[in-house]
Amino acid sequence: MDVQFWGAAREVPGSMHLLTVNGRRILLDCGLYQGRRKHAFERNRNFPFEPSSIQAVILSHAHIDHCGNLPTLVRAGFKGKIYSTPATRDLCRHMLVDSAHIQKSDVRYVNRRRKRQGKRPFEPLYMIGDARKALGRFKGVHYGRAFEPIPGVRVTFIDAGHILGSASVVLDLTEGGRTRRLLFSGDIGRRGLPILRDPQIARDADYVIMESTYGDREHEPPSRARSYLQECAASTYESGGKLLVPAFALGRTQEIVYRMNQLWEAGDLPPVGVFVDSPLAINVTEVYAGHPECYDREMLDTMATDSDGDPLGFRRLRYVRKAEESKALNTRKGPAIIVAASGMCEGGRILHHLKNHVGKRSTTVLFVGYQAQHTLGRRLLEGSREVRVLGEPVPVRARVERADAYSAHADRTGLLDWAERVRDRGRVTRYFLVHGEEESAEALADDLRAAGTAAVEVPERGYRFTLD
Ligand SMILES: [Zn+2]
Repeated sequence: MDVQFWGAAREVPGSMHLLTVNGRRILLDCGLYQGRRKHAFERNRNFPFEPSSIQAVILSHAHIDHCGNLPTLVRAGFKGKIYSTPATRDLCRHMLVDSAHIQKSDVRYVNRRRKRQGKRPFEPLYMIGDARKALGRFKGVHYGRAFEPIPGVRVTFIDAGHILGSASVVLDLTEGGRTRRLLFSGDIGRRGLPILRDPQIARDADYVIMESTYGDREHEPPSRARSYLQECAASTYESGGKLLVPAFALGRTQEIVYRMNQLWEAGDLPPVGVFVDSPLAINVTEVYAGHPECYDREMLDTMATDSDGDPLGFRRLRYVRKAEESKALNTRKGPAIIVAASGMCEGGRILHHLKNHVGKRSTTVLFVGYQAQHTLGRRLLEGSREVRVLGEPVPVRARVERADAYSAHADRTGLLDWAERVRDRGRVTRYFLVHGEEESAEALADDLRAAGTAAVEVPERGYRFTLD
């Protein structure tokens, strides 16, 4: 039996690992690779194996870099089942359809240019119909319930504490009378994150495939996440302007709302309007509300003591679904907090709000997530005096702030702690570090090597290892 690393190998996006046991194949994650457009398109479309030869997919969680290429896999002939937790399955219903919309509008943009150049048009990577076909293959299995997707492979999801429904995957692989336990971390959450339980630690692992996103960095403590919001809300009230919070629809938006609800309940939220302006974020928040089996004790206690019983809503918060209502926010008078996607300002309704307000001194833009290179978010964060928004140049006069306290990933200390606890409860002989830029993965590898007891590898894409 062996494992082969086909994505998120010495990089972050496109999580995908191929397991072969008793001659049968199973895939861990099938994430979308995101990068330069042409390269990303080729890489996502062309699998390095025959998709129809895969018998099952085990999915760790609903972030697009883990699930976003499933529609392509199905389109290319995959006929098996996709196993995930029930919450991940329900989140994917929205995430994959939204992703199909993005594929379509992306291609439309490219094709306009190709048409002018007299070139033939591209097809989208996948359509909504492909996303729906993939959704039809999902099977939800709760945490802690073992199942056997193919003979010789027994799988159990345990809580990864990263986003709703996120799992680390425990795989007991049996071939020729030998059984080995492989642990796939998925994305490892931070301890003390609101709403979710802390990451669960697997026992008796022989091999570990582990994420390393923040292997070389520490985060600010989660407690700062609330005070940042409070400070920015107070200054917005004083200036009478707008506080714009670009946020990812899945995970980050719910955390922001939870923190604002805390401020509201404590009487610490100044009298400003609060709007969550993203249909995807609203759909995702509804899925959060429908899966109390994923909540931690604090969330359950908060539900019991909250004035309206809902930690993801309060009287002054409005969820804005309709486009007209979103446009009406442009002319709304008085101070307001607007949370909108996308998190890196590459699309979505945040663009309209930036276009209208980033030129005013009374506006604050608060970044609560990672801003990749060459994104509008990154340009604002780096202090550009003028940016292009929706095709037009706009001067930047707004105050731009950034809060590092928000992250759904364990930082360096958190990752080391997780690895140590897995080692102490198991018989780990080897760690494979994935899902990190080279510097992060290598830094974590050095730290783990210094701690001794197990071999550590940072596999290249395509590297195959025999699990014996
Ligand atoms: Zn994730």
